[in-house]
Amino acid sequence: MDDYQRLFENNRQWVRDRLQADPDFFKRNARQQTPEFLFIGCSDSRVPANEITGTLPGEMFVHRNIANQVFPNDINVLSVLQYAVEVLDVKHVIVCGHYECGGVKAAAQKQVHYGLVDNWLSEIRTIERLHGRELEAMTDPQARINRLGELNVIHQVYNLTLTPVVRQAWERGRRPVLHGLIYSLENGLLKELVPAVDTPSAADQLLPML
Ligand SMILES: [Zn+2]
Repeated sequence: MDDYQRLFENNRQWVRDRLQADPDFFKRNARQQTPEFLFIGCSDSRVPANEITGTLPGEMFVHRNIANQVFPNDINVLSVLQYAVEVLDVKHVIVCGHYECGGVKAAAQKQVHYGLVDNWLSEIRTIERLHGRELEAMTDPQARINRLGELNVIHQVYNLTLTPVVRQAWERGRRPVLHGLIYSLENGLLKELVPAVDTPSAADQLLPML
């Protein structure tokens, strides 16, 4: 069986397992989704949102791109955010980076490797410049990349706080609560990088970290 065919075999086995655990699973999921979380993560194949958080289909709305970016002009992430906040009414929006992120590494190397991807990573280069003093003081190159990955997550959470969708929700006294996490490929654990952000003044608390 080749790798592609294996997907269908796995799929049929997964359906059998799910039905055994919960005979109404697909019937219920087909009717509606009521996720409490929006997960904005990296496209990296080693960081699957549902699997690392032990959530099932229907529990997490997901957007992934290289190095978990939240650009104020990216209609893709903004429309996912708007739908999640205004229609699905998610309670939590999570930006989840990961250590050893290839996108962060590529940005830090400053060499043009991939064309369009280099454009995509431009904000990470700005973040690196903003935190130059802290990063240059780190002698271990891997530790420096990992710290840049953490700083990237904090910046993306702050970018979320500036979006009209989040500001308008907060003005109406509504959720979401924003979170910044980082995932370790080495031990599989998630770590919180910032306190929960659910008001403009909580967003301002991030400023000294930027
Ligand atoms: Zn990554």
